Amino acid sequence: MTGNHRQPEVNIGLVGHVDHGKTTLVQALSGEWTDQHSEEMKRGISIRLGYADATFRQCPGMDAPECYTVEETCPDGSESEVLRTVSFVDAPGHETLMATMLSGAAMMDGAVLLVAANEPVPQAQTAEHLMALDIIGIENIVIAQNKVDLVDADRARENYREIEAFVEGTVAEDAPVVPISAQQEVNMDLLIQAIEESIPTPERDPDADARMQVARSFDVNRPGTTFDGLMGGVLGGSLTQGRLRVGDELEIRPGRRVEEGGQAEYLPVTTSIRSLQAGGEIVDEVSPGGLLGVGTGLDPSLTKGDSLAGQVAGPPGSLPPTWHQFTMDVELLDRLVGSEEDIDPISTGEPLMLTVGTATTVGAVTSARTDECEVKLKRPVCATPGAIIAINRRVGTRWRLIGIGTLTE
Ligand code: GDP
Ligand code: MG
Repeated sequence: MTGNHRQPEVNIGLVGHVDHGKTTLVQALSGEWTDQHSEEMKRGISIRLGYADATFRQCPGMDAPECYTVEETCPDGSESEVLRTVSFVDAPGHETLMATMLSGAAMMDGAVLLVAANEPVPQAQTAEHLMALDIIGIENIVIAQNKVDLVDADRARENYREIEAFVEGTVAEDAPVVPISAQQEVNMDLLIQAIEESIPTPERDPDADARMQVARSFDVNRPGTTFDGLMGGVLGGSLTQGRLRVGDELEIRPGRRVEEGGQAEYLPVTTSIRSLQAGGEIVDEVSPGGLLGVGTGLDPSLTKGDSLAGQVAGPPGSLPPTWHQFTMDVELLDRLVGSEEDIDPISTGEPLMLTVGTATTVGAVTSARTDECEVKLKRPVCATPGAIIAINRRVGTRWRLIGIGTLTE
């Protein structure tokens, strides 16, 4: 790979209840703080997702777990060997941002679920995030029992049993539970070992057509930039397959919204790749893993303010269809996550919030049967038949996850 020795090869979601220590853990492992409000700007390409890369290393001649580290220098003064670089996607814990977590999940190869040892299990978003992992089918999970420095040994054991009981029968049933203190950096070696063993880098076909899930899009130009200094529109997101190279042609779907005679339609846009950023470096070529920035030749007004977020990019002619309406097989949850409330069947006419890949769109149900429904979308999505859809309904003041759909036609 050209000038790109540290591109992350796997995306790991950090999920769990607010304040349970996700951001602190990312910082302990990567030395970076993901709660950045300031715009990261590197030679004109910026990505504003909460993410950070961490390089896991191993000290030669030492036993596990002590050999695992993020430090370049080992206790005996020798240099550690690089195992791999991983990219953490720090999911926001606030409940109203569940949609963000779900669309982030489209880019996760595995997840670390943080559970604070000093609170009863589960807290609301612990349950909701685990449900989301279950639904989206993220099976490679490590549970980090955090803040063990705040509890005594008895409470730590009791909390451990609560965690075990809570994950029973879920996708995280067999996940290792690692007691840590992110703040005091205790047991980071055990956690790295668990991630190395339980969240492997997926096998990927290097010859597949590139497929990028666009999570952000922006205009990186400062106001008042003159025409000759203007940078093209930038896409931020993740490659799920294939490779991208500077100079490649790129199609983006559904594309841009145009209005004609009061009717809105979406037209695919085609452009070329002017620059690539991955793992914090400017590179010529990228492969899956980590978050990347793609500088394009697009008019920056087209990419401004996340206007292309949720779209899909790849070589012209290779992308899945655009759907303005579709039919999905539906499987409803037994009850609302974290409550005893039953879930009523989906009814014709009701609005649903649907997450498909990184896209979130509102759809009106045009026809509802027991295990199937048809929806008409406010904003179309680009997706492959068989795609998994998270279905949310408005309950009270917010959107709640009520089930899972599979796009059929
Ligand atoms: P997030 O909302 O999940 O990202 O949580 P943060 O990482 O922002 O942490 C919330 C608070 O818990 C902060 O004040 C942290 O300093 C604190 N915290 C995080 N991890 C630990 C830990 O292992 N031990 C203790 N005592 N505090 C922690
Ligand atoms: Mg945080």
